[in-house]
Amino acid sequence: MRKIQLGNTRVHLPAIGLGTWGMGGKFQADLSEDEKHVRAILKAVELGMTHIDTAEFYGQGHTEEIVGKALSHLNREEVFITSKIWPTHLNYKDALNSVKSTLRRLRTDHLDLYLIHWPSYEVSTERSIDVMNAILDKGYTRYIGVSNFSVSELETALMHSKAPIVCNQVKCSIEDRSAFESGLVEYCKSHNVSIVAYSPLNRMEFSVEVKEKLERIASKRKATVVQIALAWLTTQGILSIPKSSEESHIIELSQAGDLILNNEEMDFLGR
Ligand code: NAP
Repeated sequence: MRKIQLGNTRVHLPAIGLGTWGMGGKFQADLSEDEKHVRAILKAVELGMTHIDTAEFYGQGHTEEIVGKALSHLNREEVFITSKIWPTHLNYKDALNSVKSTLRRLRTDHLDLYLIHWPSYEVSTERSIDVMNAILDKGYTRYIGVSNFSVSELETALMHSKAPIVCNQVKCSIEDRSAFESGLVEYCKSHNVSIVAYSPLNRMEFSVEVKEKLERIASKRKATVVQIALAWLTTQGILSIPKSSEESHIIELSQAGDLILNNEEMDFLGR
């Protein structure tokens, strides 16, 4: 599995990690398939997808419980756990409650990376970043970052934060190139902020044009459409966190981890 450096840190994460949105429910907890999701996470880790992305919002906390159950079968050092704080919790007191609850559900004493899930409408970026720095200082997480931040929000965050903001997790795929078009990818690259691509498969919705192009490269490379879609990101140094609860899909995702496209293929797919 190819590794990509996280921000300016010493950490190198697998190009393909694992998303967990929908495991154990989306907006509400769903306890009906916990074992399946735990098995999926364990399979992903076994295959090198050791970066697990979750959030307190997912399944109203139940997704973190599922990740915690999987973690109880693993060495903590084997995995890199990212979670996210919901923007309405970004005052100091609520944020401490949030991170402590997240750690309890995850059955661990620290996160590897803690992100602001979305910019807050109520708390300024400066104050939100202060709260994240305080959480870092208390040792609840090794690194902090943001998600869904625009260039100007990120600029404010970077200017204000004492600690490095190591990533901006944003929607990014061969189908949805808005992070490129807005200049966000370029800005992040020039400021040592990793882009972590969420919905890197665009939830499997590809336009006819994109799908045909992916199929062309896939058949040449003896790979699949899914793998070429992920390789399009990896080739540009972008980390991705596709979600799957199906063992066969996870195998397919992990096998994309070493796939790099050449210039001709990238030109054909469009950068
Ligand atoms: P995604 O990863 O682009 O797509 C997930 C969908 O693709 C699932 O329905 C999955 O179904 C299917 N899939 C995965 N591998 C497949 C394969 N090999 N063949 C066929 N289908 C496959 O979308 P996402 O879940 O929105 O994004 C990924 C992760 O990013 C999330 O889980 C979450 O952790 C994170 N995220 C973050 C934010 C944010 O605001 N920061 C927002 C959205 C998502 P199966 O389970 O059946 O395989």
